Amino acid sequence: MNREYGKINSSIFLPESIVEECGVFGIYAPGRRVSEIIFYGLQALQHRGQESAGIAVSDGEDILIFKDLGLVAQVFNERNIVPLVGHIGIGHTRYSTRGQNIWKNSQPIYGMFKNESFAIAHNGNLINIEQLRNEQKAKGIKLETTTDTELIASLIESSESDNIEEAIKETITKIKGSYSLLVLTKNSIFGIRDPHGFRPMVLGSLDGNYIIASETCALDIVDAEFVREIDPGEIVVINESGLRSQMLLPVERTSMCVFELIYFARPDSYIHGKNMFDVRHRMGQELAKESPVDADIVISVPDSGTPAAIGYSAASKIPYAEGFIKNRYIGRTFIQPVQEVREIGVKLKLNPLKDIIRGKRVIVVDDSIVRGNTSKKIIRMLYNAGAKEVHMRISSPPLLYPCYYGIDMATKKEFIANHKTVEDIRKFLNVDSLKYLSIEGLVKAIGESKDKFCFACFNGDYPVQIPENIEYDKHSFDREAKISSNA
Ligand code: SF4
Repeated sequence: MNREYGKINSSIFLPESIVEECGVFGIYAPGRRVSEIIFYGLQALQHRGQESAGIAVSDGEDILIFKDLGLVAQVFNERNIVPLVGHIGIGHTRYSTRGQNIWKNSQPIYGMFKNESFAIAHNGNLINIEQLRNEQKAKGIKLETTTDTELIASLIESSESDNIEEAIKETITKIKGSYSLLVLTKNSIFGIRDPHGFRPMVLGSLDGNYIIASETCALDIVDAEFVREIDPGEIVVINESGLRSQMLLPVERTSMCVFELIYFARPDSYIHGKNMFDVRHRMGQELAKESPVDADIVISVPDSGTPAAIGYSAASKIPYAEGFIKNRYIGRTFIQPVQEVREIGVKLKLNPLKDIIRGKRVIVVDDSIVRGNTSKKIIRMLYNAGAKEVHMRISSPPLLYPCYYGIDMATKKEFIANHKTVEDIRKFLNVDSLKYLSIEGLVKAIGESKDKFCFACFNGDYPVQIPENIEYDKHSFDREAKISSNA
């Protein structure tokens, strides 16, 4: 028995800034029922994707998948998790960087290699998808969706290798780009990280059983111990023989996404042994050293700007204060055709504390500026609340180039910093001063060699060469397709 089930619904979702790109969680625990453990692991990874969630389990014989659109807690309930019986499984939370937000694109995806079924969950973005899709089509292989994950599954399915492990390995040698992948077979889990290590992936242990997850915060929630990071280019196989590891692909240069450290990974997660809150705190300290200004209070744009704002306050000795109350219960913002209604989006999420702001010279810290429209509204809210001065500080350098490695962050021409100087952006935002953290300051805050990270969205130095036929507007096209097809 191999089944995928879940009700089909639709939604309209409009990203306002940079959005994350999927979380994966897998566990091998003989004698235990793993679906609930995966459910909690996925909840800890909810920040990495809010469009759909799914769990695939195996009882050693059959693979069963349940997935649907929505948050993890919306997708799963007491009734639909009961049939997910198995001691081995993988889960996924999705934000669609490629492919529409529809049920059939949600993950894990089911596949069949010869007579052996498997399920696959992917975090990342392939850059040679067009070439591989064309090759599959030329072989007469039909692909139903536009997702990377279906393509990876299809490459495994069509492999002529003798067994599924070899088929997976052969597939990995063909795909290029960013991928932290989990593959579930009826009796094994494969964890694979691309040779650049764009996306995080960690190994944990729970009562002697292995877990693989996108971030350490997913280990914490189920009381698992952190063992180590899965290395770039490594494949890990977990089954009844224990854990086996192989360096599958040569690593020329690791290039972990630096935005994982700036914003994506949860502040309580660890990357390269460093706590993300601490790293962001140091970014704020560096920002204060680089761009000091006289003011009465430092506030953050919650939650992503908070660690850096506290760091800025610590280094500048200017008191930190809560300047905004964030409404944490806004799951989605619906597309609004009328400008006045669209303006509600930011107000719904953030409301300034007027008594804190009134009459003060305020430093407001955020992690990044994409188009600038949200920052402009936030600054206007601060002036409307009575701020005497507003100084904006950004704990990352100006965003100039699009990401092709799994982060949905607009197109080149939509980045405000791509066509405006910092002074022009300051004028557009209508703010007293505006400063960004330099790349050097960012590297100092991270405390590691710059060469280990991808900084492409800041400096255009893409670690994996982008094929000529990828257009800068590709993401925008996909987003419009998504919006119109769901509207
Ligand atoms: S381009 Fe930017 S967002 Fe994309 S992987 Fe590189 S650092 Fe991360």
